[in-house]
Amino acid sequence: MAKKAASEKLIRKGVRTDGRKPTELRNIRIDVGPLERADGSAYIEWGKNKILVAVYGPREVHPRHLARPDRAFFRCRYHMAPFSTAERKRPAPSRREIELSKVTRVALEPAIITELFPRTGIDVFIEVLQSDGGTRCAGITASSIALADAGVPMRDLVVACAAGKIDGQIVLDLNEIEDQDGEADVPVAIMPRTGGISLLQMDGILSPAEFKEALALALDGCKQVYERQKDALKGAYGQADTSMDEEGDSVGGDTHE
Ligand code: ADP
Repeated sequence: MAKKAASEKLIRKGVRTDGRKPTELRNIRIDVGPLERADGSAYIEWGKNKILVAVYGPREVHPRHLARPDRAFFRCRYHMAPFSTAERKRPAPSRREIELSKVTRVALEPAIITELFPRTGIDVFIEVLQSDGGTRCAGITASSIALADAGVPMRDLVVACAAGKIDGQIVLDLNEIEDQDGEADVPVAIMPRTGGISLLQMDGILSPAEFKEALALALDGCKQVYERQKDALKGAYGQADTSMDEEGDSVGGDTHE
């Protein structure tokens, strides 16, 4: 949240730098299962963000001492390609990537029924190919779809979206310029069926009333993103569901309506 020059406005006559209204989400496209070698995968375009997620497991854990007797060991790796940012990112793992790997794991883990797979491991790899602000939310949203594609049993999907404050106004889904020149960013992840919040962060400063407004807007954004997730899974598994239903069985991606 850097200070911008007073002349640079992020909202002019109610329109943001990328043409959106204050409460408008960027365009989102989700593809299910683009990677054949992974057990599950997803690709998301969220505005200018382009992120690929691969899921492996449940499988044997390496190193083996990490295996848990009562549940699967769940790991996430958030990684940004050096070419994903405006200025080349240093290839060495950054503190930010370590933090976002942890944040992603914490946001996703409550939804996964890890008790069903003791002594195994489930790995999520998030590769940010192009970034434009909000990559943690896009990564979490896509990871949940990749986990469903892998057939990993889940209590619910996990969906994430941020709201924040720019030019003194609470807005939905900050892009990179807004994130850097704005006053605050509040990323939120929820399990939409139960409403449980599994991620709530805040960067910057908000009054209690502004925080409430930002949280409500982010939750509204999550609901919209959830519709995109369901559409993506229906598009990928709709056909399979019908044939599976006839046999009275079900597949990973169809249980999250
Ligand atoms: P998020 O992507 O979840 O909003 P941050 O708030 O840390 O996470 O980052 C905001 C944006 O800043 C990123 O989406 C990316 O576009 C940009 N960014 C992050 N790290 C770097 C970096 N090392 N170099 C250049 N740009 C970066």
